[in-house]
Amino acid sequence: MFKQNHMRQSLFLLILIIGSCTSKHELALKSFNNNDLAKDLIVLSADSLQGRAPFTVGETRTVAYLEKRMKEIGLEPAFDGKFTQGVPMVELTSHIPDKFIIQTPKGEISLKSGDEYTAWCSILQEEIKLNSSEIVFAGFGISAPDKGWDDFKGIDVKGKTIIVLVNDPDYYSGDTTLFNGKAMTYQGRWRYKFEEAERQGAAACFVVHEEGSAGYPWTVSSLRTNKADYNIDDDRLLNPKCLITGWITKDAAIKLFSSCNMDYETMKGKASVKGFHSVDMNAKYSIGINNKWVKSISSNVAGFIKGSERPDEVIVFCAHWDHLGIGPAVNGDSIYSGASDNAAAMSWMLSIAKAFKTGKAPKRSVLFFSPTAEEAGLLGSTYFVDNSPFDMSKTVACINNDVILFLGKFKDVTVTGYGHSELDNYIVDEAKKQGRYVCADPNPENGMFFRSDQLPFLKAGVPAIFAKGYSEQVELGKEKTQQKIDEYWRTIYHKQCDNFYPETDNLDGLCEDAKLFYSIGNRLANESSFPKWNKQSEFYVNR
Ligand SMILES: [Zn+2]
Repeated sequence: MFKQNHMRQSLFLLILIIGSCTSKHELALKSFNNNDLAKDLIVLSADSLQGRAPFTVGETRTVAYLEKRMKEIGLEPAFDGKFTQGVPMVELTSHIPDKFIIQTPKGEISLKSGDEYTAWCSILQEEIKLNSSEIVFAGFGISAPDKGWDDFKGIDVKGKTIIVLVNDPDYYSGDTTLFNGKAMTYQGRWRYKFEEAERQGAAACFVVHEEGSAGYPWTVSSLRTNKADYNIDDDRLLNPKCLITGWITKDAAIKLFSSCNMDYETMKGKASVKGFHSVDMNAKYSIGINNKWVKSISSNVAGFIKGSERPDEVIVFCAHWDHLGIGPAVNGDSIYSGASDNAAAMSWMLSIAKAFKTGKAPKRSVLFFSPTAEEAGLLGSTYFVDNSPFDMSKTVACINNDVILFLGKFKDVTVTGYGHSELDNYIVDEAKKQGRYVCADPNPENGMFFRSDQLPFLKAGVPAIFAKGYSEQVELGKEKTQQKIDEYWRTIYHKQCDNFYPETDNLDGLCEDAKLFYSIGNRLANESSFPKWNKQSEFYVNR
């Protein structure tokens, strides 16, 4: 009798527990709504935030708002009792010569600053001089022993200048086995090229710009000419080996190669095939560059929910707060409001934080992180990864979002960086529950996976998700969706008109994506395993 009663009681208790879990999860999902998303979006893209540039009143107001919202939601401060982490930065301007003169076997050639070349010196030194620096064509500037590829084999580039191609060999060779085919690998990014040049001890590194293989036009690269640029204020700025980094145009490269008795396209072809050896171009140049800088401190913002069972393990949700500030007026608008980039993702993140507080307390910690200076080169997130309150080896995953359009619901979830880790399976499972399909980024050659705040996490061995509805809006269909998205990149992205219009913009997709990533995060936060890297990923570590 007692036994039977006990069993009945246990069963009742079990149903009660399961029931309360489900309803808690349902409550959490119900907490998402367009109104709340719009409220945060309106504030975060308002003119009063002046385009959210670091070190301005825009920063003060944005950071204060995020902190206020995190407190309201009930998050704990992530940095020793504070919601903010000071990020020491240097605003550095390199003044480069109008003409970059190179001595070649066929005589002197000259490249015009801004039009044909751009350069900068990330070093705290007022005058930087290179004398008679020899130029080496170093192919793609890649050293990847795991792939049996080394552009620096048999050549010492210490103290020399290397000219390298953007993207990776598969882009040109049509091979799909070495560098992930058409998709850009991290070794294809300019950032990697400069890092490798530093490791090889080269004194300077210039990347040849081609629009197709870079993924953006020359104007994006040349924008930096004689302009202030932000850097993290650390030892890397004191004594770099690679003093000068920059770009030259494809036409400038053709001119330089031809003057060195080489054909640019032929050399590119050779560099795209395994076994290529870097070539001394028999050219040299001297250059003088002047630096000016100002030091200031900006802030990362983060709050978290402490895990109930494994508080030192953490899932990171990420959405950068900074944008481009104020510029010249276009159609009467001078403020870069950055509504899609990135007020939308901040609202997305805050709504997920609220859902986590509504649902059952997670077993692992969940961090809601809004870095500074993403637009300046992922500086806030880079600093955070080096100075995180959580151990990177216990950081389970980073779920980042950036540039979310207000087009309504999508049939798809487009995953940028598909194929890197087991996190893909989580997206597939949860997308299915929403009746959506998963597809890979249709333009992986643009290297978008390496162009937002997930990159420092990837480099620290933490798998990341960068995904959203992007390919097939429910009413528009694929083709028209693509047109809308192309239009955004062409006419709105990083322009003053990236605004939020509450009357006409449709937040259904943003809301759906917030639910999706809450569900993925919630699963990760209650598991004990760590999602694994796929072996072919260039970020692979065994974890
Ligand atoms: Zn952004």
